[in-house]
Order: sequence, then structure tokens, then C-alpha cells
Amino acid sequence: MNSFNLQRRKEKVVVVMGVTGTGKSRLSIDLATQFPAEIVNSDKMQVYKGLDVVTNKVTEEEQCGVPHHLLGVVDHDAEFTATDFRHRASRSIESIVERDRLPIVVGGSNSYIQALVDDFEFRSKYECCFLWVDVSLPVLHSFVSNRVDRMVEAGLVDEVRRMFELDADYSRGIRRAIGVPEMDRYFRFETSADKEIRARLLEAAIDEIKANTWKLACCQLKKIHRLQNLWNWSLHHLDATDVFLKRGKEADEAWEKLVARPSTVIVEEFLYN
Ligand code: ATP
Repeated sequence: MNSFNLQRRKEKVVVVMGVTGTGKSRLSIDLATQFPAEIVNSDKMQVYKGLDVVTNKVTEEEQCGVPHHLLGVVDHDAEFTATDFRHRASRSIESIVERDRLPIVVGGSNSYIQALVDDFEFRSKYECCFLWVDVSLPVLHSFVSNRVDRMVEAGLVDEVRRMFELDADYSRGIRRAIGVPEMDRYFRFETSADKEIRARLLEAAIDEIKANTWKLACCQLKKIHRLQNLWNWSLHHLDATDVFLKRGKEADEAWEKLVARPSTVIVEEFLYN
């Protein structure tokens, strides 16, 4: 018997990477509406229940009926490590494959993605196709800053206030999310301070959230570069910068042309060739 035939065929997994704000979720849902697929979240804050605005979870409407795994499932103060992620994500991937569907892992937490794919058992079972949605940093900068303003309009302050405790531990669970520790000082003084000081405290908190989101984006990009050098699997680079320089219909067209369509072609080749 030919020894080649004894080798088990590897199942296929798509991994969508990219720094915060680049459109990873959008791409994963675009792909999942074209291929029979389900999504596995790999954002270390979105795995927690709650703080949907702060952590920027996709809404049910945005999910377009695509099943999402590991999204808002862990209690807010529970510890959830990269190893926990590896176990839970592996189980989700296995169940998706059993349903004859394509698992699409998506999220900005590169340590989680690394824990999952840099594992002997995982590599022996699965073959991965990595899609990297990239946006030039100067262009992304104003986008992530505006996104924080939109989060504030969408109710960030009330959402975080509901979690506020005087002796809260910001090193555990979902309270580590950017947008939570930064609001602490504001909530401590909001009832006692006069209107002007309150406004200044809020402004300072929002500025800090923007600065920390920016730091996160820069760190995530460094990690992606590091992983790219570390892995012999190549990352398919999708430059979405032009999408962010356009508005409305033109931005949607640029997304189709620069990100959605090329990704579809890459995934088609990965699955069928
Ligand atoms: P690290 O090892 O630095 O934690 P990582 O790759 O494991 O990196 P990242 O996704 O880069 O994880 O998250 C780093 C930190 O950024 C988190 O601990 C959290 O404070 C914050 N963060 C990440 N994702 C979100 C999010 N969706 N909303 C708010 N804050 C987030």
C-alpha cells in the first residue's frame, strides 16, 4: 500500500489576523456568507460576557446569522488564559469541521492565535490559511480615535459605570479591557466634582482610552511581524488602507476590490486546490 494513502488528510482552517480596527470581523463575516463557515473569536476581551460597546463586539445584526463561537461566553471576572483558549477553540473547530463547515478564527489577540496554532496536535490535524488585514498606521490612527468617540456616543460611559466598584481589580477578567481602568478616576469623582472638573476628567479619560487603543494597535502590529518571521506558513497580506481613505459607497467598493474579493480567491484556492 502506498504510504501516502496512510497519511490523514488535514482539515482546513482560515485565520483572519490584523490589528484593532482594520476590519477583521467584517472580512470574516463576508467570507462566512460565501463559504459554509462558522466563526471562532480570538479576541481575548470579546470572549467575556458584557461590555459589548467597549470591547467592540459584532452585534447580532452584523453577525448576519453566521454562528460565532467563544464570543461573550466567559464570566466577567473569571481568568481565561491562552491555554484555556487553545482548548475551547480546538473543541469549537472540531465541532465545526464535524458539521462539514469551515472554521474561521478571527481576532486581534495574537498570543491566543499563537497558542492555538503553535501546537503539535493542532498542526498535525489542521492546515491554516492566514489572512492579514493591514492598514497603514497613520491612516488607522484617526480611525481608531474616531471609533472611541463613536463608542462614547454608543454608551461606553454608562456601560463601564455599571461595572464600577471602588476596590475593583483591573488586572483580572474583563476589567483589563481598554476603556475600563481609564474611567476609574472619573467615576470616583463624578458625584462630588463640579460640572467643569467632571467634564475635564471625562475628556482626560477619553484621551487615555484613545492613547491606549493606539498603543494596542502598535503592539499588535509588532506581534504580527514577529509571527510572520516565526512561522513558515505565509500570511496573505491584504492592504485595506485605501478603504479608510474613502467614504460611503466608494469605501465599500474599495473594500470589495482590495480585501473581500482577493480574500475569496485565496480561500477558494486554499480549499479546492
Ligand atoms: P498581550 O500578551 O500583550 O496581552 P495579546 O496578543 O495576548 O497580547 P491583545 O489582543 O493584543 O492580546 O490584547 C492586549 C490587551 O489589550 C488586553 O489585555 C486588553 O487590555 C486590551 N484589549 C485587547 N482586545 C481588546 C478589546 N476588544 N477591547 C478592549 N481592550 C482590549
